[in-house]
Amino acid sequence: MTLHIDLQAIVANWTALAARAPGARAAAVVKADAYGLGAAKVAPALYQAGARDFFVALASEGRALRPHLPDDARINILSGHMEGADLAGLVPVLNSPEQFFRDRAMRPGKPFAVQLDTGMNRLGIEPGEWSAIRAEVLAAKPDFIMSHLACADEPDHPANAAQLSAFRAMTEDCNVPRSLSATGGILLGPDYHFDLVRPGIGLYGALPFADGQPVARLSLPVIQTRTVQPGEFVGYSATWTADAPRRIATVAAGYADGILRSISSSGISLYAAGTACPVVGRVSMDLITADVTGLADVPAELDLICPEQPVDRVAEFAGTIGYEILTSLGHRYDRTYR
Ligand SMILES: *Cc1c(COP(=O)(O)O)cnc(C)c1O
Repeated sequence: MTLHIDLQAIVANWTALAARAPGARAAAVVKADAYGLGAAKVAPALYQAGARDFFVALASEGRALRPHLPDDARINILSGHMEGADLAGLVPVLNSPEQFFRDRAMRPGKPFAVQLDTGMNRLGIEPGEWSAIRAEVLAAKPDFIMSHLACADEPDHPANAAQLSAFRAMTEDCNVPRSLSATGGILLGPDYHFDLVRPGIGLYGALPFADGQPVARLSLPVIQTRTVQPGEFVGYSATWTADAPRRIATVAAGYADGILRSISSSGISLYAAGTACPVVGRVSMDLITADVTGLADVPAELDLICPEQPVDRVAEFAGTIGYEILTSLGHRYDRTYR
């Protein structure tokens, strides 16, 4: 089971997204192990390409990443300063007055950033709270102030403009670097760019960055093949029955590896050098079955994610988004880097 990851494509996507926001510095979001692709490899490649600002969700992720990056790389922690967290060498993005006061008490003089809530109601200091502590926060000199857009993947959604104007109103005269946009916000245009942009999914070759290069290829080894006769079924619950003699390949990977069970009977295929081999029967924990009758020769491996069937296409079959497909890819794959 091999997950081939093209680091050059990740770097090219970062460079392309940075070029869409020419007035801003481009960070790199590498939370959840760089969306499942391996932060210890992805982050240093982006550092080499010029990235100096990185974002992860948890302090534990930041601590794991810290040894892989030079000291001048800033690793920002989106969950902020949680009680008891070890934040040495990390920059917490403080999300509430409680986190701000905790952080200043525990880490006086150490770098921090602030997140404001502009309408998503998930993380961030609320407008009323901000009015109350703003002067004190600014006096402590945050590295930057950020917020996050809820609907940036829908350019016409009215929440985008509403959040933009709320962010402006809360930060207009702060004289601190500002950050509002992830991948989707970058594509909304210059009004949304401010001083720092935070692309994540677009680096990894998935929507909403439609112009990104593909990054991942997932190749699954064939364990055995067999011919089934008309009337014979394949897999758990006998959900698929052959209507003619069919050649079936069983490959080593299943829902324990992030190949969601919901792709069963969805019309999805595995690919042999460009030829589609429909997945038949249920996806089980460690195994998938595909109809390879159309192949003259069955190769040693069949691909689930490949140029013919990119991450977002797999996500459509599974009824989810590319983010969930990538971050679900498990630990049993050999991750190889190019
Ligand atoms: C995950 C995340 C990002 C990156 O978002 P993408 O849509 O993957 O580009 C940026 N900012 C915050 C606060 C996030 O949680």
